[in-house]
Amino acid sequence: ELKRETMEFQAEVKQLLDIVINSLYTDREIFLRELVSNAADALEKIRYKSIAGEDIAGPELPLEITVEVNGGDKTLTISDTGIGMTREELVKNLGTIAHSGSKSFLRHLAETDRKDLNLIGQFGVGFYSAFMVAKKVRVLSRSYHSGEQGCEWISDGAGSYSVGPAEGLQRGTRIILELKDDAEKFASADNIKRIIKRYSNFVPFPIILGGERINTQQAIWVRNKNEIKEEEYAGFYKFISNTYDDALYRLHFSADAPLAINALLYVPGENLERFGFGKMEPGVSLYCRKVLIQQKAEWLLPDWLRFLKGVVDSEDIPINISRETMQDSTLVARLQKVITGRFLKFLDDQAKSDPGKYGEFWNKFGIFLKEGAASDYAHSKDLAPLLRFESSRSETGELISLNNYVERMKENQNSIYFINGPTREMIEAGPYLEAFRARDLEVIYTHEPVDDFVLTRLGEYKGKKFVSADQADVELPELEDKEQHDSGGLDGQELQNLTAWIKQTLNGRVSEVRASKRLLDSPAMLINLNGGMTSSMQRLMQAVNK
Ligand code: ADP
Ligand code: MG
Repeated sequence: ELKRETMEFQAEVKQLLDIVINSLYTDREIFLRELVSNAADALEKIRYKSIAGEDIAGPELPLEITVEVNGGDKTLTISDTGIGMTREELVKNLGTIAHSGSKSFLRHLAETDRKDLNLIGQFGVGFYSAFMVAKKVRVLSRSYHSGEQGCEWISDGAGSYSVGPAEGLQRGTRIILELKDDAEKFASADNIKRIIKRYSNFVPFPIILGGERINTQQAIWVRNKNEIKEEEYAGFYKFISNTYDDALYRLHFSADAPLAINALLYVPGENLERFGFGKMEPGVSLYCRKVLIQQKAEWLLPDWLRFLKGVVDSEDIPINISRETMQDSTLVARLQKVITGRFLKFLDDQAKSDPGKYGEFWNKFGIFLKEGAASDYAHSKDLAPLLRFESSRSETGELISLNNYVERMKENQNSIYFINGPTREMIEAGPYLEAFRARDLEVIYTHEPVDDFVLTRLGEYKGKKFVSADQADVELPELEDKEQHDSGGLDGQELQNLTAWIKQTLNGRVSEVRASKRLLDSPAMLINLNGGMTSSMQRLMQAVNK
């Protein structure tokens, strides 16, 4: 017989709970969204197991979420008939943090005064938001494995919790919140109903309050586009992304061939990776006929599309496909190809029809497209026309595409020139542009080492080679007013003496000194003999190898 035990929370959980319990919040009601979404996850898992033919306890139980308020006791109870948790699972899931980004989330929380916990769900710690409103949380749970006993987990969030056996439970989980004195309003049925309608309307299981179902929306992605209102699309985005912001782009499509697909994809309003929250997890879930196969499916889309949120539903995917087989499945690879292709085509259309908005997208998410162009051979060609750069012809802040560049190339120009530097000002103050300026040749400005990897990886665009302006062997047409720029003065022997003297004086820091025909105003410049890598790439490699 198992006894009741008291256990310490993991250090990171303690830290999080300390913030959750002792801070002011911009929005406390999101705790309900987190608990309901956990209940829905647990129901998705049991539905999947039952369809896959696994043996489950309580097969006759309806799959639903029940919410009860008790104004007298000041309690709020959320129950589900989902997968449940064993004693070990309670300890692991509600006492530790598995998510890799949780440290940066903690740092972010610690740094802000009025805490916005809205992002909590994205960091795999949503459960703990219950302590914003509860002075004590009781979790009663019974796992779906027949033969498992019921368990109870209790905590006031102050450093420790206890677990022990519990009698008379059916499959699933019941969470009882003893509300804080200043959180009594969460024991009001009207208030709870409003919050559920606001955040949990799309939960694909009935949410029952006072005997009545309160969430009303059906799986939006399988419905006809023409029948879906803007508010429904916006509401669904908020539901799947756990945020308030509005999506930047939305793509809803269905296809019958080569695969039967219904997909609804969103580009979020913000890119969290820009704010140092670490690498995002993929955000698109895979369904088969409205049954969740895998939430935030890893192999569904290429890694560089991890910023997308949404749903892909395909009846061609077998319902019992496992995570492992997904990775190698040719079906999933085909699915990935179709969806990525559609999305890139969509971006191309957007860039043409509304360049201003595309510019906003580029500034926030362009880094992902660069990552794709540099690392994903299958898609780099389609990504190339979507890239944007500054150039010697663009205004500050204006961006050009490779098509813009190629269209206005000189008649006999065979290369696309680029030069890397931290800022426009530094590039334009340097010596490399002189020769190009004198010949009225446009030069693309790249500001990050990854840009040079992208262009080197692409190799060419529309048959024109990418050439870094700091390469030693850049071949440029003769200047028309050559006389004017002629070095004059030094003869062959003098020149040789001078370059030899410079090389000796620099004492091994350069491998060669040459007389240059490229320079017009500057006395000297460093060029790159190492044909394969631009200087900025070499600096990056040196930094990595240190
Ligand atoms: P996340 O949902 O992102 O994993 P949470 O902090 O919300 O993070 O929940 C932590 C874990 O606790 C979940 O992954 C799940 O395993 C477990 N859990 C929470 N609520 C339930 C529930 N109602 N039924 C079953 N398991 C649950
Ligand atoms: Mg959760």
